[in-house]
Amino acid sequence: MPWKRNSRMFKEARNLSLLLEDVAGNAEAKAMLKDMISFIKNPDKYADVGARMPRGILFYGPPGTGKTLMAKAIAGEAGVPFYACSGSDFMQTYVGVGASRIRELFKTAKKAEKAVIFIDEIDAIGKKRGRGPGASHDERDQTLNALLAEMSGFHDRDGVVVIAATNRLDTLDDALTRPGRFDRLIEISLPDVNARQKILTLHASDKPLDESVDLTALAKSTVSFSGAMLENLLNEAAIFAANENNGTKVFINQTHIDKAFFTVIAGAEKTDTSFITEEDRKITAFHEAAHALATRLLLPDSYISKVTIIPSTRGAGGFSLSIPKDTLYMTKEKLLANIKILLAGRAGEEIIFGEEKITTGASNDIEKVSTQMVNFISTYGMDEDFGIFNMNVLANGNSFSAGTSEARLVDLCRDRIKLLYHETRELISNNITDLKKIAAELLNRESLNHEDIEALLSS
Ligand code: ADP
Ligand code: ZN
Repeated sequence: MPWKRNSRMFKEARNLSLLLEDVAGNAEAKAMLKDMISFIKNPDKYADVGARMPRGILFYGPPGTGKTLMAKAIAGEAGVPFYACSGSDFMQTYVGVGASRIRELFKTAKKAEKAVIFIDEIDAIGKKRGRGPGASHDERDQTLNALLAEMSGFHDRDGVVVIAATNRLDTLDDALTRPGRFDRLIEISLPDVNARQKILTLHASDKPLDESVDLTALAKSTVSFSGAMLENLLNEAAIFAANENNGTKVFINQTHIDKAFFTVIAGAEKTDTSFITEEDRKITAFHEAAHALATRLLLPDSYISKVTIIPSTRGAGGFSLSIPKDTLYMTKEKLLANIKILLAGRAGEEIIFGEEKITTGASNDIEKVSTQMVNFISTYGMDEDFGIFNMNVLANGNSFSAGTSEARLVDLCRDRIKLLYHETRELISNNITDLKKIAAELLNRESLNHEDIEALLSS
């Protein structure tokens, strides 16, 4: 569609009644956005004390998880206009058009004084620059430069915030995420069972369900569905029900839901993860439960902020996130505990499923363990046998024995890791009841926080 200067190209919706409560789940993301809402409402409050707020927020996560919805809700909460566009809108045949569209968009938003600008699919203009002949892309560069220039032109007392969204964080140009640009990164993840139930309830509120439909059960059976897929599921079911309507009042029943389920699954992208088997879920649950259990046993001071078996955009089957207690130095004891916590995932798999059934799920852990062990020995000088010596001083090539020393270091690292792995396996085996408790709860609820685990294990 050719671009006309006087066309109203940016959708604006002033009477947004959408609020954060209309976005189910994503509690962590919401907590990270509270101060932004307060800033848009009252930028002076922050400028008065010399606080510089982030102007660009980047939402990343799988498609259909409510990134657009969340951006709208921020505008709704702050009571300001919302201007939405998509990165692909700016990719025009004529060089310069994208850049001038960007300037136009910001001009409109600044006129409103306070506003949320939302740019979906930011990767279309902010992709990493390619190398080699033919890789240059003037149009994209000009558009990106215009965007960055506009963003650095904000004053501290302007209540304008730019929110960008992407499903592909890994492809973004680093220039976009530098300080002063999109420097607040917020992950919007797939909903867990609890959030799925909330999303279903939300979207079922205007649909007559008959008593054969159990939303709790439906939430359980829609593992790795995005919010959009859940919405779609109910909508398709409603269409099936309406098709049967011949004058009498119809309700959406379980048969409609079942039919809709397959429509939605069939339409889902290949890249998404709706096809995780029950077996995979179980393995992930024991793997993550073991990380969490080891954290609790070895570093009781640290806070387990989240353990989940919902796959993350980072490609892991699940993940556990713990916040270590703030300290200036790391002790030997803590370094070793960290390594064991990383090894615990593999140990948990082995104990429950057997040595033959261990999976590739631990590869990321193994990489971290290896790095940490090398540092432990050759940077921190903490290994008794190896002594106090830094291997890096040999890397300059001024020693002919560097090669053999490296081989020795590798052998030593593997020895030490083997021993630690053995100890970790013992630790997990000795606490197998707790491991099973956490894993079962993970299979049931999909994600747990610190309090959940404490409550579970103290009961
Ligand atoms: P994204 O921008 O992440 O691709 P959208 O915000 O466009 O996803 O979501 C598409 C639709 O899916 C929304 O309009 C809404 O109906 C539904 N949806 C997605 N996530 C949620 C959620 N967390 N809570 C409620 N509805 C959701
Ligand atoms: Zn792991």
